[in-house]
Amino acid sequence: MRKKIVAGNWKMNKNFQQAEELLSEISEQVKTKATSDVTVVVCPSFVFVEMALDLCRDEKEQDIFAVGAQDVSVHDKGAYTGEVSAEMLKSMEAEYCIVGHSERRKYHNETNADVAQKVEMLLQNELNPIVCVGESLEERESGKLFDVIKTQINEGLFGLQPVDFLHVVIAYEPVWAIGTGKTATSEQAQEIHKYIRSLIEDKYGKEIARNISILYGGSCTPQTAPELFSQPDIDGGLIGGASLKAEDFLAIINSFEK
Ligand code: PEP
Repeated sequence: MRKKIVAGNWKMNKNFQQAEELLSEISEQVKTKATSDVTVVVCPSFVFVEMALDLCRDEKEQDIFAVGAQDVSVHDKGAYTGEVSAEMLKSMEAEYCIVGHSERRKYHNETNADVAQKVEMLLQNELNPIVCVGESLEERESGKLFDVIKTQINEGLFGLQPVDFLHVVIAYEPVWAIGTGKTATSEQAQEIHKYIRSLIEDKYGKEIARNISILYGGSCTPQTAPELFSQPDIDGGLIGGASLKAEDFLAIINSFEK
């Protein structure tokens, strides 16, 4: 059965001391209060990945906590100043990596072809990609919503062999909902999650489609998470702003129906 996952995307927030404080709070809360069948993933800045792994080693060993990065290089190694490779992340014991976030698509011109290459790098190094897809408001309003999602998934992911595809997590993140305070309604989100699962089923079959976790992201809060997470095709969330407060993050982790 597919995993329930709540992943925190810290983006470019927190300095060293603040990151340490937030990680300690999260690990304490996860250890004592979190629902045990949810995998919690924290994706801090690259520079804090090691600290996150050190601080949360016990929880990681209990398989309830994992650390991820927010991006990875398309290259495996070499003269690419400032880049971080999948092998480097693997050697630190990171387990997940966000790919194709709309902010990377927008500010760094990341294309679906880049996404495909990054996913390939991560899978070669046994890391789980969390691949973001989602439409802009203009694309939704002009009726291109389904085509946009289909193209992102087709070009970014459908070159994979079934055995590799099974390690992918997909995050549906409508661009108009990210950091705007406008959460998609649970009906809007479920409609697209169901559509994504149908695309997977057409490509890889029912069994694989049933086993892929599809997360919702976009202004998800402790108030909106319970209804979103109760939808049949929503398996958790990719959380930005609300993952920066341990209390809110924990409330979201505990939002699944008991
Ligand atoms: C994100 O950036 O992945 C995200 C979902 O952000 P927020 O929750 O702040 O909208």
